[in-house]
Amino acid sequence: MDTNKRTGLLSIIAPAMNEEGNLPALVAAIAAALDPHKIPYELIIVDDGSSDRTWEVICEQAKRDARVRGLKLSRNFGKEGAMFAGLDNVRGECAVIIDADLQFPPETIAEMYAVWQTGVADIVEGKKRTRGKESLVYKLFTKAFYGMLKGMSGIDLNNASDFKLMDRKVLDTLAEMPERQTFFRGMSSWVGFTTEHVLFDVRERTEGKSKFSPKKLVKFAISSISAFTDAPMQLTTVFGFLSCFLAVALGIFTIFFPFARESVEILCAVLSVMVFFFGVVLIALGIIGYYLARIYGELKNRPRFIISNRTDDR
Ligand code: UDP
Ligand code: MG
Repeated sequence: MDTNKRTGLLSIIAPAMNEEGNLPALVAAIAAALDPHKIPYELIIVDDGSSDRTWEVICEQAKRDARVRGLKLSRNFGKEGAMFAGLDNVRGECAVIIDADLQFPPETIAEMYAVWQTGVADIVEGKKRTRGKESLVYKLFTKAFYGMLKGMSGIDLNNASDFKLMDRKVLDTLAEMPERQTFFRGMSSWVGFTTEHVLFDVRERTEGKSKFSPKKLVKFAISSISAFTDAPMQLTTVFGFLSCFLAVALGIFTIFFPFARESVEILCAVLSVMVFFFGVVLIALGIIGYYLARIYGELKNRPRFIISNRTDDR
């Protein structure tokens, strides 16, 4: 037997918001996927301010299976907050995040763990082979979002997901990153470390419905981009130069072509250009304001999540 093989407890983190119908199946599916491989694990289910019986179900599951631990957040902090609450509480040598709705196959966790054991990678990332059923609008939206993110920050997250296994080293690094407004998918890619990929097929959600409304998604996209790049602010500089260039060109045009001064069409053209750049200035102000608000958010230094209950005593 290879004695250099990594071994140790695997922590599985499942953020759950109103997932009462999925949790028993999740607990059973994880046991069914990992027990045959004799993988030692703990399952941390984080109740992210659910309004249904999610917390009661977590407590029941924890009573029945000592490997299940539950954390209850004091309100809905969003999936990011729930994931970081889990990450903050792992006892394992490595940890993986999985959606509570069973859209990510638990069998893939066994595959990831096996790759981690060989020591070839500190991060084993699930990459979507197929994306499951998504609406055309959603597909276009994610394509545009990842395209923009890649163009502006150079980080390629296409077909990436939060479904990734991280070694203790990576967990410690993430824990040391001080930002309050997190973007897990980006942060865990930004930290580097050798990464291996494991392909998986996204499944259909069996119970309940998606917790990400279009509004929540747009908010998430904007905050993710701003968390990773200040390119939108640079863009305003580019527009500034463009506008100066246009102003000079128009000036020269009116000096050398006197008829231009009398033409109504030209007046309209100049007006529309002015109004356009007035709009650009306002957008630029909005973008700067947004980054300012984010700085303010960081300065307040509030916790990423607040835990109100737990099934263990730490
Ligand atoms: N989730 C959460 N807090 C939220 C929204 C979602 O903990 O505010 C959890 C949710 O319970 C699920 C996972 O994050 O386990 C992914 O959410 P969902 O399945 O709704 O997203 P989708 O698969 O539609 O992108
Ligand atoms: Mg889902």
